[in-house]
Amino acid sequence: MLTELDQGLLIYLMVFAFVLGTIMASFGTCMAERMAAGRSWLRGRSECDSCHHVLGVRDLVPVFSWLFSRGKCRYCGSKVPVKYPLIELLVGILFALVILRDGGIGFVTVRDWGMIVIALAVTITDFMTYEIPNGLPISGIILQLLYILSSGDIWGELKDSLIGGFVLAGGLLVISLIMDRILKKDSMGGGDIKLFFLAGLVLGLGQGVFCLLLASIIGLIMVAVMKQNRIPFGPAISVAFVMTLFIGTPVINWYLSLFF
Ligand SMILES: [Zn+2]
Repeated sequence: MLTELDQGLLIYLMVFAFVLGTIMASFGTCMAERMAAGRSWLRGRSECDSCHHVLGVRDLVPVFSWLFSRGKCRYCGSKVPVKYPLIELLVGILFALVILRDGGIGFVTVRDWGMIVIALAVTITDFMTYEIPNGLPISGIILQLLYILSSGDIWGELKDSLIGGFVLAGGLLVISLIMDRILKKDSMGGGDIKLFFLAGLVLGLGQGVFCLLLASIIGLIMVAVMKQNRIPFGPAISVAFVMTLFIGTPVINWYLSLFF
């Protein structure tokens, strides 16, 4: 599926992916914040949070707008948080790393770019509202279905995907229902389980379980660091999901090599 590319072309693709990643991060952040605020996430133009001046093209260039305006709104001078250019940079780097991982560009590359943007949007909305809008896991499931249809082995991919999704989400559902009984409170939200369903579909069973372990560790670290009563679990799952997209295969291969 992937074509052999010479190094020059690979670097060119990585630069393209980086730029695309910063733009997608900018869109993704904006849409997630609108979703979290309960506004229409497709309609309406971007505006400054403080003065509500509609932003122009010059204000919407990822990373650079922030750098050139020294982190301030051009119209009212209020500070634009540094998290915005940092998120854009991070997603740009991740997009380029997917190209490096795949040694070129294929359907799997495009799918994982989409998953990274969905993970970003989940992280933002869950931090802001403690909820994951259904549209996010659903977009991911549609993307995964398109990927399966584009693959050479539709039935094989579909089987692995469904086993991963249903075992992971089903297992978690049972665990969370038992925990709810013991703790007498909701231990895990429905959004978290839908997100694990997506992770299982994309990663398959083995990597899905690894993702679950990773998410639990990240969740525990968040509990220790944030010292809050209520911790959103979506960001932990999202970070674990994206990490597994990169390190899942080598980790599973290493684990299996211990036995065979
Ligand atoms: Zn302003």
